[in-house]
Amino acid sequence: MTDCIFCKIVNGEIPSAKIYENDYVIAINDINPKAKAHVLVLPKVHLDSFNELGDEKLMSELLKGVKAVVKIMNLKSYRLHVNTGKDEGQIVFHFHIHVLSNHP
Ligand code: 5GP
Ligand code: ZN
Repeated sequence: MTDCIFCKIVNGEIPSAKIYENDYVIAINDINPKAKAHVLVLPKVHLDSFNELGDEKLMSELLKGVKAVVKIMNLKSYRLHVNTGKDEGQIVFHFHIHVLSNHP
């Protein structure tokens, strides 16, 4: 999607600090971290939100991405967060899983 900021990050049009990447997902540092470690795991394909996520292979790759981040960053404890819809605080309409930890 041409006007999507996360698609631009996936395409390399906007720089980002990548923690992990495979054929399906990338994990990047959040630009405005709300915890000591704050990473976003997102699919390379554009999906507006969790509501559009139906592909089981992609679901498993996203969770693989989360696990890779936990391992790479050596997170001792963490929480996962998904905002769906603007009324729940979603501001970027390209699906992403927040990985937050104050114990990296
Ligand atoms: P949401 O509220 O949609 O679940 O979360 C969007 C997240 O994306 C926010 O935590 C925000 O700080 C982050 N964000 C917004 N624009 C950028 C950007 O250009 N680069 C990165 N790395 N993160 C961004
Ligand atoms: Zn997008």
